[in-house]
Amino acid sequence: MSAGGARRAGVCGWPVAHSRSPLIHEYWLRTLGIEGAYERFAVPPGAFPAFAASIGCDGLVGANVTVPHKEAAFAACDRLAGDAQGSGAVNTLWRENGALCGDNTDVLGFLANLDAGAPDWRRTAETAVIVGAGGAARAIVHALLSRGVERVAIVNRTAERAEALAARFGRRTTAASWRELPKWLKRADLLVNATTLGMAGQGALEIDLAPMKKTAVVTDIVYIPLATPLIEAARRRGLRAVEGLGMLLHQAAPGFERWFGVRPTVTSELRALVEADILAEGKGRS
Ligand code: NAP
Repeated sequence: MSAGGARRAGVCGWPVAHSRSPLIHEYWLRTLGIEGAYERFAVPPGAFPAFAASIGCDGLVGANVTVPHKEAAFAACDRLAGDAQGSGAVNTLWRENGALCGDNTDVLGFLANLDAGAPDWRRTAETAVIVGAGGAARAIVHALLSRGVERVAIVNRTAERAEALAARFGRRTTAASWRELPKWLKRADLLVNATTLGMAGQGALEIDLAPMKKTAVVTDIVYIPLATPLIEAARRRGLRAVEGLGMLLHQAAPGFERWFGVRPTVTSELRALVEADILAEGKGRS
């Protein structure tokens, strides 16, 4: 514990200034009346092992891990819990009896958001298409397979990364090329954007949704802006569209419980607080 005895947690990344995690955890600390703090830790590549070693010292009870450290966090852990082993990446760290422990709560966050936004998605989702093959895509492929989705096609700019992901997850996954995308979209019950495209300041993910079934669900894990160009295109096409912010809110809850001992709730008030912050940033930019 620190001198005052209050617990500290935080998010480590590079860059980390844009992270909304402090807003989320500070809201829970405040509304639950818990004495504690949640900070930002700017940790450059190469400095992650020293940061990980500091967990457990001076009141620092754990941390969230964001880009680019999720795989380094996986490698640094003495013990893996929950979905960490399955997804090959860690976004939540804590220490138990001296051992560094990690979980990947992006899996739970992705599924909780989809369950909330399209409650019956799994009833029809035999085939999913995921665009992207980075750290978040790994967690999402694991999430979809764990819910029994029969076929997951992975499309990525760098084909080798899609192939590596498909090889890791086995026979229910396929690495598909951009050229094959219309064919896969025709079959797809669910389309996921797990690239950085669509993020404010980046190009849009340009996909023609015309081949998709009317019953299909489209979700984007990018949440700045709240409604990405892909989400807007899905709505124009009359498809159910699930924005990405809920994933961020839900993935935060298990870490908070580990560090501060209370399972927090994703309330509409919390969502409104984070949405207002994102909208204010958008106005500042325009
Ligand atoms: P990452 O590991 O860096 O992967 C980035 C992915 O985007 C790769 O597949 C990359 O393709 C693709 N990409 C980047 N620029 C591209 C371009 N110009 N054209 C085509 N593809 C491009 O990042 P990540 O951790 O997976 O995160 C991906 C996104 O998800 C980020 O925007 C992140 O903020 C968001 N995210 C959201 C949540 C949430 O809670 N909602 C959670 C985690 C992540 P290549 O392999 O070809 O480079």
